[in-house]
Amino acid sequence: MVVGTLYLVATPIGNLEDITLRALRVLKEVDLVAAEDTRHSRKLFNHFGITTPLTSFFQHNEAAKGERLIELLRQGKSVALISDAGTPAISDPGYLLVCRCREEELPLTAIPGPSAVVTALSLSGLPVARFAFDGFLPAKSGARREVFAGLDSECQRTVAFYEAPHRLLAALQDLRSELGDDRQIAVARELTKMHEELFRGTVAAALEHFGQNRVRGEIVLMVAPTVVAPPQETVREAILRLQADTDLSRREVVKQVARQFGLSGSEVYKESLDLDEEMEGKNG
Ligand code: SAM
Repeated sequence: MVVGTLYLVATPIGNLEDITLRALRVLKEVDLVAAEDTRHSRKLFNHFGITTPLTSFFQHNEAAKGERLIELLRQGKSVALISDAGTPAISDPGYLLVCRCREEELPLTAIPGPSAVVTALSLSGLPVARFAFDGFLPAKSGARREVFAGLDSECQRTVAFYEAPHRLLAALQDLRSELGDDRQIAVARELTKMHEELFRGTVAAALEHFGQNRVRGEIVLMVAPTVVAPPQETVREAILRLQADTDLSRREVVKQVARQFGLSGSEVYKESLDLDEEMEGKNG
């Protein structure tokens, strides 16, 4: 017998236009959609004219309901899993079901789309060549401070957390106690929604900014590495900048850029000739 596929379908984190064409097709074509909150998802379904049956699948019935879904997949039914917002299994139900499908060797695939953590990091202006996501911050101050203490001196990557709006100020105070006033952070609020906001600055500035009014909406808090290196200029950008902003001869430009990047003069000279050639190619 042919078994069914489980689709992990990402849904918008605010703006409904962020649903993908593939997500819409799959949600319309599957036999059943397992949703964290069926009443919430019904609004999404009504908006897009999706009539597929919905069943509830949330944190407290994940194990039992998961077995029922596994049974349906074995019988050849296709099932989509969605959460209230964003990507299933990312601080949302789904992990257990994914593990069970793998154990049972049932086919599963992801329909990628929005996730608050990736959206926030990409918008943050903090270094993201390396990052970590630590899920929801603990609700209690002691545990939260322990988490922040772990981001001390050796921290070389940006770390993102989900946080509830009514705890943001307390979290920022704990952050200040553990890492000081000057650590660089970013706070993304209400991403993709009407009141979207991205705060970027020090912990002290964030306390001042968010301390003014009651904090509302959904939040991602991001803490920068201990040292934030300025964005790197490439060799080519440095050559072009010096050519545009100064009257330096090619020899002088090459010398300065070679010094800046620790390269040999001949390497930078070759780069500047290549650039000239490309420019001529574009203009001619
Ligand atoms: N699975 C979701 C995802 O992929 O982003 C996350 C679900 S988790 C239960 C919900 C948390 O994600 C919120 O409390 C908030 O921290 C963050 N979040 C969700 N939507 C957001 C938004 N539009 N702006 C900022 N943070 C958001």
